[in-house]
Amino acid sequence: MSLLNELYEQSDLYKIRHTAAHVLAQAVLEKYPDAKLGIGPPIDNGFYYDFDLGVDEEGKPISFKPDDLSDLEKRMRQIIGGQFPLEYREISVEDAQKLFANQPYKLELIAELAQANAVISTYRQDSFEDLCRGPHVLDTNKIPLDGFKLMSVAGAYWRGDEKRPMLQRIYGTAWHNKKELKEHLELLEEAKKRDHRKIGRELEIFILDDEVGPGLPLWLPNGNILREELDKLAKEMEDKAGYQRVSTPHIAKEALYLRSRHLPYYVEDMYPPMDRAGQQVLPEADELPVPHPDPRLGSEVLPRPPAAAVRVRHGVPLREVGRGPGAHPGTWLRPGRRPHLLHRGPDRVRVRPLHRPPLRHLPRRRLRPLRHQVLDEARGPRRRPRGLGQG
Ligand SMILES: [Zn+2]
Repeated sequence: MSLLNELYEQSDLYKIRHTAAHVLAQAVLEKYPDAKLGIGPPIDNGFYYDFDLGVDEEGKPISFKPDDLSDLEKRMRQIIGGQFPLEYREISVEDAQKLFANQPYKLELIAELAQANAVISTYRQDSFEDLCRGPHVLDTNKIPLDGFKLMSVAGAYWRGDEKRPMLQRIYGTAWHNKKELKEHLELLEEAKKRDHRKIGRELEIFILDDEVGPGLPLWLPNGNILREELDKLAKEMEDKAGYQRVSTPHIAKEALYLRSRHLPYYVEDMYPPMDRAGQQVLPEADELPVPHPDPRLGSEVLPRPPAAAVRVRHGVPLREVGRGPGAHPGTWLRPGRRPHLLHRGPDRVRVRPLHRPPLRHLPRRRLRPLRHQVLDEARGPRRRPRGLGQG
């Protein structure tokens, strides 16, 4: 656990939020007596609690109704005003199992605690007792009546496992006082106004589409202008720094990939070989540049298997965006790839990959099946890869 987390766990705010979660669970149980309780921890800006309200006739999980949140909040205020002390006790496994006999999720947690030989403890306020290790405020009245708010309901799988039941999670936020809550809510409002998804659409920069996938923007003409300008700037800065650009094809003979050592290490990320004018060629894997055999480019610039992170040189992320009309295919470098650049001038630097075990260190027995598998699967009868320049 990080120091920051530790400090948070000892803070009043953490205890306020944790206790608010317990009070919420009590309110929910009073309204839905058959509800099964998941867990209810404090989180960054507040707390949540997961509930299983059972399933409807169609077998779908029952969710909270629209006005449930305001009703629950009202009841929470009553409980808070009751000034109920938070009472801690440690109990045996048997007692815990009896106490939570009709709470299957709690029973699962108890079984795990028992197996780990851990202390089983509960906290109780008013009529509600929860399996819990704390910490909590001394009594419910320490939760500021005007410093908390129930925010939303979302579905959440029990223990984050999609094979387990979908529970109903109520999110709440809680603060030291009304002023802090107000500031937090205002911040959320402001953030909503600045949501990049909203702004991107409004300014016709990009749109996000569920069908394409999350975080995968579809750039609109305005956005593309931005991208092209950034690209131009990057190129200008690279020019100034003495870079020259070269281009390579998207495909090359597999022997070249063996020589460059991409094939043994990156075979799983590479596309299968394809036939081109009777020659077997391998399309480059995404993120992998075609290795360049031209001696004029020198071994210094023979592209290496890239490191995981995007390389930045002279403060410019080395990624190419867009593809001009009629441009050579190889000039379209994908995000995260290092353009094939010649570096000249006094500050010539050789960029080494972070992890690139030399080929000779790879046990032969590991390399050979790999190589065979690649070549055999690709084209049936195996053929010795010919050396560079021979084929
Ligand atoms: Zn608790």
